[in-house]
Amino acid sequence: MKVLVINCGSSSLKYQIIEMDTREVLCKGLVERIGIEGSLLTHKVPGKDNFVIKEDMKDHQRAVELVMAAITDADHGVIKSVDEIDAIGHRVVHGGQKFAKSVRIDDEVKAALRECVPLAPLHNPANILGIEACEKAMPGKPNFGTFDTAFGMGMEPKAFLYGLPIEYYKDYEVRRYGFHGASHDYVSHRAIEIGGLDPEKAKVIVCHLGNGASISASIGGKCVDTSMGLTPLEGLIMGTRSGSVDPGIMQFICKKENLDIDGILAVLNKKSGVLGMSGGISSDFRDIEKAAAEGNEDAENALKAYRFRVAKYIGAYAAAMNGVDCICFTAGVGENDKNTRQLICDEYLGFLGVKIDPERNDIRGKEALISTDDSKVKVYLLPTDEELKIAMDAVKLLQEG
Ligand code: ADP
Repeated sequence: MKVLVINCGSSSLKYQIIEMDTREVLCKGLVERIGIEGSLLTHKVPGKDNFVIKEDMKDHQRAVELVMAAITDADHGVIKSVDEIDAIGHRVVHGGQKFAKSVRIDDEVKAALRECVPLAPLHNPANILGIEACEKAMPGKPNFGTFDTAFGMGMEPKAFLYGLPIEYYKDYEVRRYGFHGASHDYVSHRAIEIGGLDPEKAKVIVCHLGNGASISASIGGKCVDTSMGLTPLEGLIMGTRSGSVDPGIMQFICKKENLDIDGILAVLNKKSGVLGMSGGISSDFRDIEKAAAEGNEDAENALKAYRFRVAKYIGAYAAAMNGVDCICFTAGVGENDKNTRQLICDEYLGFLGVKIDPERNDIRGKEALISTDDSKVKVYLLPTDEELKIAMDAVKLLQEG
């Protein structure tokens, strides 16, 4: 069974075809600059040279048509015809309160996604464009949606309500939603599977540390709390996002720097995090670590603050669940940066009985237990696979009919 996974941004489209029987990724690709001059599609097939199509694409419809051309291309394609695709799985950013799990997409679902546009004004319109382009280009193929926010729907009111007038929740659905849901869902279930943990009661903390970063606590795979909120700005210090700050800062900086609310939000989203804290060195951890090693104090403090914040969330989540059985590290930093993993655990988590084995931790991008045998909490490196999760959900829903 083959699933085409589509992840649309406002000017980009990422895709993969996954052979579900073997879980092999047959090809993956990226379309950039949709609707902007100089658009191009880069198609990758394992073991082959990249195939690049340069053509100005005025919209997502044209992008999907070129994806179809690439995947069926005589030399670079991986299927003879799109008939070989059994299902299309879409990543959808915001499902509001309507979607607690993945769904088959129909007119009603699309209408509900449109209602969620105010909650994710940049992402949801692009997701809808991607869905409609696929419906048009491949009529009759079943389309499914997996929501970034679905995992957070497991939270109870005590976790999802802000300390705000309740009307904002009741009238406008202002609450904590959480993001990176496909990743937290996939990794927490994978931890239960490979750790042989109780599928109903396992208390798992997942640290998704990528360019965007979030952390979740779940019991038996059901979300208890997660660090992002109404928007992905809340929580951890990230590559370019500030994470949680005192909201009073916004008025203070607006007055000092003569900014309006959009201006300060642009700073919090794009110019903060380790990029901003390091004085603009980079949002990439490798650059910050290099600068810190060369003695840059701001870079060193950015890394320290980053780890401190992650550790504080882990402590808070251990309390929120009254215990923790397993901590998982995933995404770019979590999968590749052994120092960050080691230091978070060594500097702060000894009180939980966490012990990292430096030899086991000397690994990148592979599933591995990195804690010692006598560690009270199991610690894993578990690479995330959001596309596989989207494809797995599509297959499950297809089979359910
Ligand atoms: P995104 O949120 O864009 O999906 P990723 O999960 O791909 O991000 O993470 C990208 C980030 O991972 C990079 O910005 C970088 O900070 C970090 N990263 C990747 N490789 C390494 C490495 N070897 N050491 C430290 N950090 C790394």
